[in-house]
Amino acid sequence: IESKLPEVKTTIFSTMSALAQSYQAINLGQGFPDFDCNPALIEQVHQAMLAGHNQYPPMPGAAILRHAIASKVETLYQATYDADTEVTVTAGATQAIMTTILACVRTGDEVIVIEPAYDSYLPTIQLAGGIPVLVSMRLDQHGFSIDWDAVASKISSKTRLILINSPHNPTGMSLTNKDLENLAALVRDTKILLISDEVYEHMVFDGKSHLSLASHAELAQRSFIISSFGKTYHVTGWKIGYVLAPKVLSAEFRKVHQFNVFTVNTPMQIGIAHFMQEPAHHLNLPMFYQNKRDYFCAGLAKTKFKLLPVSGTYFLCADYSEISDRTELDFATWLTKEIGVATIPLSAFYRDQNQHQLVRFCFAKQTKTLDYALERLQKI
Ligand code: PMP
Ligand code: GLN
Repeated sequence: IESKLPEVKTTIFSTMSALAQSYQAINLGQGFPDFDCNPALIEQVHQAMLAGHNQYPPMPGAAILRHAIASKVETLYQATYDADTEVTVTAGATQAIMTTILACVRTGDEVIVIEPAYDSYLPTIQLAGGIPVLVSMRLDQHGFSIDWDAVASKISSKTRLILINSPHNPTGMSLTNKDLENLAALVRDTKILLISDEVYEHMVFDGKSHLSLASHAELAQRSFIISSFGKTYHVTGWKIGYVLAPKVLSAEFRKVHQFNVFTVNTPMQIGIAHFMQEPAHHLNLPMFYQNKRDYFCAGLAKTKFKLLPVSGTYFLCADYSEISDRTELDFATWLTKEIGVATIPLSAFYRDQNQHQLVRFCFAKQTKTLDYALERLQKI
């Protein structure tokens, strides 16, 4: 068969998890918690099933959940989204990203992607007939950051979309007010649309708050803002998330969504809507993950890895140049097979070669899992 995506292989997350399993390595690669969610959330879903919420919900999502999302966003970001016309529940962020891209990108349109980038972005743009235009982040002693002059130099009359992700997977960086101002200046007086992948919105550390594009009225007008309950409530296997966008953009999104998945499973929507009534369930998250970050960083400080700063997400990047001069993929493979700790090579987030010697660790793990991994890493 003549492949539509000849250069695409099985995603690195599946590959590294399979390798971890076959070598019984501790899996700090693929991003998912190794602890369970709050039992109250499962109880809410159970109750929803017993109450008969088992048939199709409305196409954009159950009303109770759309209202709960709109209310959370209003409280956190002082942004008003109409629950009926501007909030759509999706089968995870991955579907939200693909559906947005399919709804917006026409053949030959350019989409600016900032690398390192989450691995679903490029193939999705290609499937839509778009042309990914890549801009690399800067890396200096302060960590990764976006070079807005470099982004500006890539804007053309064909630019349809810019894809932003903050807090950022895999680097752990978060956008600042200055970043948002730079972005606003770039797109002002253009028709460029934005996708803001904010799946780690509730994992921002050191007392800072998440800067959602929703909170920036000028940017919000042209943005699809995407989040994931899988990340927020420790249920990555549930594949449920949402997209916020102004009415005209949401209408375009829903034209595709209705034929993509039509809608998302009902009892989880109802269960999550009830669980969201307690804001502590998301407000406690920054501290919960900050403690894990600090614990893991303190342990890694006793190894030969050099850590990059992390202001959000449940990932951190570490430089291994003192340990090895292998390429990132070779090093991650060696670390899994020989040391028994699985990570993700940063090269998986780049289309072409990159200049780094970095791997990504996921610290969304129980303390004992982090301890087992640290014990092995400290022996190198
Ligand atoms: N975007 C980013 C940046 C992610 O890290 C993830 C999670 N792996 C997703 C999107 C996809 O989220 P979901 O599992 O809800 O599809
Ligand atoms: N987003 C998760 C990560 O970055 C993995 C999601 C997946 O396996 N597709 O690790």
